[in-house]
Amino acid sequence: MGSSTITPLQILKTYFGYDSFREGQEEIIDTILDGRDALAIMPTGAGKSLCYQVPALLLPGITLVVSPLISLMQDQVKSLNEAGIHAAYINSSLTEGQISKALSFAARGVYKIIYVAPERLETASFLAFALHTPISMVTVDEAHCISQWGQDFRPSYLKIVDFVRQLPGHPILSAFTATATEVVKNDIARILELKNPNIVITGFDRKNLYYRVEHLTGKQKDTFIANYIASHANESGIIYCATRKNVDTLYEQLLKQGVSVTRYHAGMNTEIRKESQDDFIYDRAQVVIATNAFGMGIDKSNVRFVIHYNMPQSIENYYQEAGRAGRDGEPAECILLFSPQDVMISKMLLGSKDFEGMDFAEMEQVRHQDAKRLQIMEGYCMTTSCLRNYILNYFGESTDQPCDNCGNCHQEFEELDMTQDAKWVIGCITEMRGRYGQALVIGTLLGSKRARLREIGADSYNCYGQLQSRTENDLRLLISQMIRQGYIVQTDGEYSVLKVGNISELQQKNTQILVKKFKEKEKISASKKRKNPYGKSYFEAENTAGNSNEATNTSSPNAAKKSALFETLRQLRLQIAKEESVPPYIVFTDKTLIDMCEKLPGTESEMLDVSGVGQNKLKKYGQRFLQEISSFLSNNN
Ligand code: ADP
Ligand code: MG
Repeated sequence: MGSSTITPLQILKTYFGYDSFREGQEEIIDTILDGRDALAIMPTGAGKSLCYQVPALLLPGITLVVSPLISLMQDQVKSLNEAGIHAAYINSSLTEGQISKALSFAARGVYKIIYVAPERLETASFLAFALHTPISMVTVDEAHCISQWGQDFRPSYLKIVDFVRQLPGHPILSAFTATATEVVKNDIARILELKNPNIVITGFDRKNLYYRVEHLTGKQKDTFIANYIASHANESGIIYCATRKNVDTLYEQLLKQGVSVTRYHAGMNTEIRKESQDDFIYDRAQVVIATNAFGMGIDKSNVRFVIHYNMPQSIENYYQEAGRAGRDGEPAECILLFSPQDVMISKMLLGSKDFEGMDFAEMEQVRHQDAKRLQIMEGYCMTTSCLRNYILNYFGESTDQPCDNCGNCHQEFEELDMTQDAKWVIGCITEMRGRYGQALVIGTLLGSKRARLREIGADSYNCYGQLQSRTENDLRLLISQMIRQGYIVQTDGEYSVLKVGNISELQQKNTQILVKKFKEKEKISASKKRKNPYGKSYFEAENTAGNSNEATNTSSPNAAKKSALFETLRQLRLQIAKEESVPPYIVFTDKTLIDMCEKLPGTESEMLDVSGVGQNKLKKYGQRFLQEISSFLSNNN
C-alpha cells in the first residue's frame, strides 16, 4: 500500500482535524485497505464519507465516487478542497470543455478523488479515461438508489457494474447507504457483484436528536412555530408541511413576523427554487418551509431543528426528513405537530396517489401497505412511551430502556381507568354495526350536536352522550389503545371504519383498561431539557447543570460570554464563507465553533486541538479565528 508510514488516524487528524473515529468507520477503512469489498449501512450523519475518503488518500490510484446528485457532489468536493485534498466532480453542470480539461488533469493524477454521476460511466470519453488511469477503488454512495425497493431508485445505478467489469485493475468496491432494509441490502451486494464483502451495519439510533410530538390544532400550531422560532433565533431549521398551500400560508405569516425565511415546493419555478435552497444552505435564510420535495441532496450539517407542521405518511418518511437535523452530531430537535386532521390530509393525499402502470392487484397491495404505514405513523403521534424506541423498534432494533432524551420520556403522565368507557366504545361500534369511523364514534359518545350524527340516527343510540364527561382526546387515546390491543379493528383506506375485534378478554371480570395520558398542567417544556448547541441556551443549560443549587433564571456571566463569543465567531464564519463562496458549515461546523468557545485556543497548536481544525484550515483561517478570540477575550475581561 502506498505511503506505508501514514496511518488512517493521522489522515483523520491532519486533514479533517478529528481525534478519533466514530462507530464503524475504522472497520470499513481497514476492510478497504485490506483490499476487500465493503458495504456500510450507517444512519445519516454517521460519517460515511470519511469511510471512503480516508482510504482514498492511502490507496495508490484514484477513487471514483458514484453519487446521485450534483448538489451532493459539489458539497463533498468543496469540503475536500477546504481540507486541502485534491478532488473534482464530473457531471452535467460542467461544459464539455471543462469536462475534458478535468479529465486530462485527472489522467495526470492531479485528483485523488473524483465524483461522477452514474450516467457518466456509460460515456465513451469517460471509459477511455478510466481504462488508461489506475483506479484503486470505485465507491457507490447512496447505494440504495440501485434497488427498486428503495425510495430513490435510479436505473443508471444498475449499469455501474458493467463499467467496473471493464476496468483492468480489479478495483475495490465499496458501497454506502443509510437504508437498512434487508431487501435493499441484498440488492446492493448482488447487483454490484460485491466479492465477499465485509458488511458493516451500525445502530440506527441518532443519539443527538431529540424527538417530540405536540398535539395542537391549526391555530395553536402557528403560535407554537412563532414562539419556537423566536426563542431559537440564529438556529437553522426546516419546517415541513404536507401541502404547497400550507407552505405558502405559513411562509407569508412568518415573513410578516419578520422571520428570516424562505420556501421550497414543486410548484415553484426551478430557478427560484434553487435560489431558495441556496439561501437556506448559505445561512442567508434562517428557516426554510417546504414540502417533502425538499431535502434530497442537502448535506447542510448545522440544521438545528426539523419541525413537521403536519404528520407525514410513514415512519420511513419521517425518519428521513427529521434526520436532516443535526448531521454535525450536535444536539438537534425533531418536533412533530399533530392534529387529528393530519390523518385526513394524509388519507386524501394517498387517495389521489398515481398508480400508473399497476394492475388492480398491485394497486390494492400498495394501498394496503400505505394504509398500514399511515396507521403506524399515527401510532407514533399517539404513543405515550419512548418516541425513540418506537422508531427503533419499527426499524427492527429492539430496545427496552426509555431513552430519557425525547418529549415522552420528559413528560409526566397520569393513568386513567377507562374500563367502563371501553365497554361503551364497543357498544357504540356495535350499535353502528361497524359502518362508521372514529370521528363519528367519538362524536356519538360525547353526545355532540353535529348534524351528521342526527342524519345517521346516532342521537337515538343507547350510547349517545354516555361519555360526555370525557374529552375528545381521552377517547382518541382510548380507541388507539384498543386498536393496538386488538379489541377494535380499523379498516384501511380513505373511509376507514371501526369494527369490533376480539373482545373476549375485555369481557372478563378483572380486565382493566388503563390509559396513560399527559398531565396537562405539569407539562415540562422539552426545549428546556434540550441542550441547545446554538447561542445562549446551550451554554446556560450547561452552566445550570453543574450548578443545580443555583436555581435562578439569570444566566451566569460565563455562559453569556460564551454565547456572545459564539455569535462573534459565527459572524466571522459567515464572512469567510462569502469570500470563499462556500456554505458556512463547510468552513467550520457548529461543533467546531462550540469547541472553540470551550477551549479558547490562544496559539496555533491549541487551535489544532479543536475538533474539525485540520492543517489546511488552520493555515487558511487559523489566524483570523485566533485573533477574533483574543480580541474578544481582552474586550470582555
Ligand atoms: P453521512 O454521509 O453518513 O450522512 P457525513 O459523511 O456527511 O455523514 O458526515 C456527517 C458529519 O460528521 C460531517 O460534518 C463530518 O465531518 C462529521 N464526522 C465524520 N466523521 C467524524 C469523526 N470521526 N469525528 C468527528 N466528526 C466526524
Ligand atoms: Mg453521505
